[in-house]
Amino acid sequence: MPEPRHVVAFSGGKDSSALAIYLHDPERWRRALGKTGLPPRAPLEAPEYVFCDTGTELEETYDYLNRLETYLGTPIQRLAADAPPGETPFDHYLKLYRGFLPSPQMRWCTRKLKLEPYERHVGDDPVISYVGIRADEPDRVGYISTKPTIQTVFPFKEDGIVKEDVYRILEDSGMGRPAYYDWRSRSGCYFCFFQRRSEWVGLLENHPELFERAMAYEREDPETGERYTWGDAEPLVDLKQPERVAQIKQRTADRLARLEQTRVGPTLLAQLFPESGLLDEARDLEDPDAGCSICHL
Ligand code: SF4
Repeated sequence: MPEPRHVVAFSGGKDSSALAIYLHDPERWRRALGKTGLPPRAPLEAPEYVFCDTGTELEETYDYLNRLETYLGTPIQRLAADAPPGETPFDHYLKLYRGFLPSPQMRWCTRKLKLEPYERHVGDDPVISYVGIRADEPDRVGYISTKPTIQTVFPFKEDGIVKEDVYRILEDSGMGRPAYYDWRSRSGCYFCFFQRRSEWVGLLENHPELFERAMAYEREDPETGERYTWGDAEPLVDLKQPERVAQIKQRTADRLARLEQTRVGPTLLAQLFPESGLLDEARDLEDPDAGCSICHL
């Protein structure tokens, strides 16, 4: 039986990034975070870092991955689903799915664009797959392969690493958070249907061309009148109207004001990331759902 490969898959989000940084030098981070009494953990031997690229990620994600590669001193392999030249993997599969946009109920995108390229990459070798679900996320499951050769492990759960520790790792390592955190909290495709309304407004204001592209995917069936939209009920053409944008922004401002009134002192998140930390908390008030446990780690 060959020695297992050690594979860390990034989503471009904070937890998977912090996990790679943590596993790069576990004892240093344990000391820094005051995690004592744990069984010894050595740095990973010959780690493989991978990123499953849908072809429709944000440029902030690619920038962050480039910086992370420098920090880790090891390339992050970009894995992509097969697609004809000139077509993104997402567009290719959208055609195969006859234009049916993915949704939380029909999430073909995660399987085709993230899981299958990953499983093809690891093949039939024995693999230990490192996943960044934290100790304070007891209900989150994450990626568990059906392949018997892939063993999934959760170092953050094992070592009691919680959200505040993740922020500390990102800040103290000098990596910080990906720049999209200024307007959105989740990694993944620019049109991800898990986006909150305030994040769609963030896309509109920060990447208007991507917002237009996302809007172009939405359509109405001329025969049935049925609408295919990213959001549950609101087409992007309605959401982008100035009065609707103002309303969504006002609701975010109200949540921020509530947070400021009710807090006893600034949280670690707000201390470490004064510009975007509080906004991040307000987004969680808008919709606390953790989104996709594979794409948004
Ligand atoms: S980020 Fe969202 S749209 Fe993209 S693959 Fe993941 S679930 Fe699908």
